[in-house]
Amino acid sequence: MTRYIFITGGVVSSLGKGIAAASLGAILESHGLSVTLLKLDPYINVDPGTMNPFQHGEVFVTEDGAETDLDLGHYERFVQTKMRRANNFTAGQIYESVLCRERRGAYLGQTVQVIPHITNEIQIFIQGGVHAAGGGAPDIAIVEIGGTVGDIESLPFLEAARQMSLQLGRRRACFVHLTLVPYLPMSGELKTKPTQHSVQKLREIGILPHALLCRANRVLPMDERAKISLFANVPQDAVISMPDVANIYAIPNMLHAQGLDDILCAELGLTLPPADLSVWTRMADALEHPRHRVTIGMVGKYVDSTESYKSLVEALKHASIHTSTRVEIEYIDSEAIEKGGLPALTHLDAILVPGGFGARGVEGKIAAIQTARNAKIPFLGICLGMQLAVIEFARHVVGLAHANSTEFDPDTPDPVVALITEWHDRAGTVEKRSTHSDLGGTMRLGAQRSPVNAGTQAARIYGASVNERHRHRFEVNNRFVPKLEAHGMVISAATPEHGLPEMMELQPNLHPWFIGVQFHPEFTSTPRAGHPLFNSFVQAALEYQRARTTPASTPLKTCNG
Ligand code: GLN
Repeated sequence: MTRYIFITGGVVSSLGKGIAAASLGAILESHGLSVTLLKLDPYINVDPGTMNPFQHGEVFVTEDGAETDLDLGHYERFVQTKMRRANNFTAGQIYESVLCRERRGAYLGQTVQVIPHITNEIQIFIQGGVHAAGGGAPDIAIVEIGGTVGDIESLPFLEAARQMSLQLGRRRACFVHLTLVPYLPMSGELKTKPTQHSVQKLREIGILPHALLCRANRVLPMDERAKISLFANVPQDAVISMPDVANIYAIPNMLHAQGLDDILCAELGLTLPPADLSVWTRMADALEHPRHRVTIGMVGKYVDSTESYKSLVEALKHASIHTSTRVEIEYIDSEAIEKGGLPALTHLDAILVPGGFGARGVEGKIAAIQTARNAKIPFLGICLGMQLAVIEFARHVVGLAHANSTEFDPDTPDPVVALITEWHDRAGTVEKRSTHSDLGGTMRLGAQRSPVNAGTQAARIYGASVNERHRHRFEVNNRFVPKLEAHGMVISAATPEHGLPEMMELQPNLHPWFIGVQFHPEFTSTPRAGHPLFNSFVQAALEYQRARTTPASTPLKTCNG
């Protein structure tokens, strides 16, 4: 019998509702419950795959190949349950489903309306998401409703949640509302009015929150808690303070210390063994007390919106935890490199080129990769980063001066990266691509397992096989692999059916740690388990730093002096 916790948001968006929901999931899991999470997005896009990462942050890819909201990434990092396509849906999908059904005549001449048809459909989708993971109903489903209370577009979702809680009956559902308590520096005050109003809005539509999570830039003092309690009709102990924190993995402990889990479990009629959050305490500790420190240059395009590299930034944090190393990320704008030349990279301990789409900034990234290769700076190229590493190698080592990806130069004489349909062309020229205008649905998406070649660095990191998630259209062109390998590049993993290059590295005599991966390892990294590739990358950065900072002339101590 699954119990539901609906999480709503008030005042403004981007308060960290996803992290709050995920942290609550982690606490409940530590009480021994099985937990799943759902994200309901009230916008009309049918999937977030084509949305601008500037506006919406990263597109997270699930194991089953869905392009979803980045909050699903937070869920997977905080709880053990793997998210699936059904754990995230949009208003667009709901309307699409209802409209298809209407066209099929399934509503038998009824007037199709927001209530009950859209709200029923939302409930059907919620049920589908809750059971998506298979293996029996979870104890708890945390349902995060995107958007802000008071928005027109989120109303049907809130109404569906209200109806659902009524149908579920007593002790089966509760509501948590996340709001902002802004601090006004002019008067030196925290203002509770926006929170009062947002709870009023919620009550107008029949939802009484059982706990309030109050985001503020400081701890909420007792007076403000009392005021919010009185005006919002929420007991004072359920007005929870959620100040800004430097480390999101400290949030489960922060919420548990204020008794959020006790309040909700009482509401849901659950008596549970005590929470054991020691693993979160240890991780937060490891992040706060590192023994080493490295600086990694991340050469990307959307550098002013780090939200678009969310999972990657988190994966590096996980490596921090597991290597006891503080990882500083220096964001290097690839377009600025194109305009003003390469900045000094000599202070960097490693260089990372993440995934990306489109031609802007590509030549800047290639220039950074060339430096990493020549100066033997540890290099990790992810997806586009691997494709560009192959292009760089083809141009400057193999001698194919105009080598490129057909994504950036459809007429390149040496398409070392191309759509598979462009690889082999009997006429010997590159076929014009036919699928390029179709920007939805032509991607290689989701998890795929490939064998790893024994004796490679990839095998030392991953073992005999690699199972990672993909999100790309273009592939390293197999026709060029013999030429690349003849010059010292190693394709260390390839897909079993089509031999698509999955991982590349350079022979150890050329470079100590230069790895490109066609997949996105950041989607499977968790703070608890870390990730072998990122751990190895940070370790390589540390070694490079040591070698650089240890004077070569220091005599080695030997036993006999
Ligand atoms: N643009 C490249 C492709 O579509 C790489 C995509 C990525 O880095 N996710 O293949």
